Amino acid sequence: MHEQKEEDGILMDFFESIYHGEPPWDIGRPQKEYVQLEQAGEIVGSVLDVGCGTGENALYLAEQGHDVWGIDFAPTAIQKAQERAARRHLTATFRVLNVLELHTLGRTFNTVIDSGMFHSLSYEERPLFVDNLAAVIRRGGTYFMLCFSELTTLPDFSTLKDFMPKDFMPDLSKLKPEYKRLQVTQAEIKESFQDGWRINYIRQATLEARLKPGELHGWLSSISKE
Ligand code: SAH
Repeated sequence: MHEQKEEDGILMDFFESIYHGEPPWDIGRPQKEYVQLEQAGEIVGSVLDVGCGTGENALYLAEQGHDVWGIDFAPTAIQKAQERAARRHLTATFRVLNVLELHTLGRTFNTVIDSGMFHSLSYEERPLFVDNLAAVIRRGGTYFMLCFSELTTLPDFSTLKDFMPKDFMPDLSKLKPEYKRLQVTQAEIKESFQDGWRINYIRQATLEARLKPGELHGWLSSISKE
């Protein structure tokens, strides 16, 4: 069982609060890396979006005919995702859930997508997440991960307060340094997925956001469960 620690609570508060405003990563459409993956036929069958936020990637894949679920620990993000699905007459299942509790979903998927979630896990949470991922992905199924790389320069975390609703900013100084680093190296990806996984590729990619500069460097990984 994952123990709730103070810094987890701060991060959850941070995400929940920012969804009362308009987070810079909510671009109102899917990330282009995911559109390209879908168009290339790499996204197969049922899909789980881990840390789905307001659901733009999940809803795009639902529109393309996939059976899609999305989970996120920020209730306001899930509410927004459900509202967008209803408004667009799309069918997808959205649930409030921590990615460290994926095993409680009680079903498996052919594909799992992650747009900007993995890089917000702490070092000790990463193996817990990978174990949970193994519980919800079928053998031979693929996890696609889009995360910030060490090549990107991120705006200072505190500048995100501009996107927060007025007068709320959790005390991010209490976060562990790695939560603020938000960068993942190729070596770290390989280390996290060395047992029971096959890394198909790790490619340079960009994450889109409503920030200047608008594009941030990342890695797009395709990792299959053996
Ligand atoms: N995938 C979305 C959101 C990216 S921001 C998009 O592309 O727009 C990262 C998301 O991961 C946030 O919505 C945050 O609430 C979620 N998240 C971070 N850690 C999580 C955890 N431990 N469990 C569930 N969701 C988490």
